Amino acid sequence: EAVMIAEAGATLQQARDAAAEAGRQFPLSLASQGTAQIGGVLSTNAGGVNVLRYGNARALCLGIEAVLPSGVVMRDLKRLRKDNTGYDLRDLLIGAEGTLGIITAASLVLAPIPAESGVAMLSVESPGAALSLLSLAQARMGGGVTAFELISGQSFDFLNRYFPQMRQPFAEPPSWSVLIEVGLPAGLAAGEALEGLFLAASEDGLASDGVIAQSGQQAADLWSLREHIPLANRAVGAIASHDISLPLSEVASFIRDAQAMLAAAGDMRINCFGHLGDGNLHFNLFPAKGRRREDYDSIREALSRRIHEMVVARGGSFSAEHGVGRLKVGDLERWGDPARLAAMRAIKQALDPLGIMNPGAVLG
Ligand SMILES: Cc1cc2nc3c(=O)[nH]c(=O)nc-3n(C[C@H](O)[C@H](O)[C@H](O)COP(=O)(O)OP(=O)(O)OC[C@H]3O[C@@H](n4cnc5c(N)ncnc54)[C@H](O)[C@@H]3O)c2cc1C
Repeated sequence: EAVMIAEAGATLQQARDAAAEAGRQFPLSLASQGTAQIGGVLSTNAGGVNVLRYGNARALCLGIEAVLPSGVVMRDLKRLRKDNTGYDLRDLLIGAEGTLGIITAASLVLAPIPAESGVAMLSVESPGAALSLLSLAQARMGGGVTAFELISGQSFDFLNRYFPQMRQPFAEPPSWSVLIEVGLPAGLAAGEALEGLFLAASEDGLASDGVIAQSGQQAADLWSLREHIPLANRAVGAIASHDISLPLSEVASFIRDAQAMLAAAGDMRINCFGHLGDGNLHFNLFPAKGRRREDYDSIREALSRRIHEMVVARGGSFSAEHGVGRLKVGDLERWGDPARLAAMRAIKQALDPLGIMNPGAVLG
């Protein structure tokens, strides 16, 4: 039935390795998988790079065992795809950031390993062109598109500065590019499928240049560039970071309008990258060359507020995959639907009346 029972303390990497030993994959994949634990990825409903095809942690969990705040153990390690028997406490604990109980084990969905896989990095004219390319790729390969990441020219600049030993695929970093991964059934060569996609995209004026990995090592090198972007960002030091999501139809206009708003607000650099296929952007602001983070102290909060307002006005979320924690409690209060917030408080009060579970997180 392709289900794995994992203890909460197993790392995501251990879970992925155990699945591979059984000839399957556990398709949740994050840069932090060597240290992130199953309990942590479920409690944060972590996303990562394969959400486009396989969903986030919630979509990959069938059942949970947890210690509730009263001390009782909830044993619900079901392996069922269908179970309509009332309130879904599993879904309540997933993404609760440890505020409703401690997850101790979970039953997890395993997926077949695609027979053929391939990776390409293509330069595109704009975020809008990147989204058209995604539609084209999905029209040609259906659910075979497993990852679709947007990378800005600023990302390549930062990588060049802090990781100069990493080989970059473009002689001149393009303003925008995408990293595409496909996983296809036997009989469909991934390299050929990506070449066909590139040719069709060139004809439509969507992609102008690019590389298709010719080996597993080249594919890993392209992914490594993507995975080093957060590390390069940290080395530069952000003024403010935003983990936002938008309906796909709003992504391109948001980027354009936010860039214009920031250009009027002051001199700074924007690194916009992320899981474009999921509408999830990391929209991070950095000091202009020669300036320091501190120079922006007086406008930092107002800029973040403005960006989040623009996101919410477009039907988006101010926290796509990084959760609420303690930092975004105020944002949730400001933008959360009042009825939903009241229900959340009632649930917290009912399950954890003494407020002993991760106090201060999510609801403050
Ligand atoms: C380099 C890097 C890349 C990352 N990439 C992504 C990404 O692509 N997508 C993404 O979603 N996140 C990403 N993250 C964030 C983070 O790694 C994930 O959210 C991960 O799931 C956290 O797991 P952890 O075990 O480290 O949890 P912790 O950080 O220890 O805890 C996270 C939260 O879960 C709660 N918690 C932990 N264990 C349990 C448990 N057993 N029961 C109940 N509550 C518990 C904690 O109280 C806390 O609120 C990234 C982090 C890093 C450093």
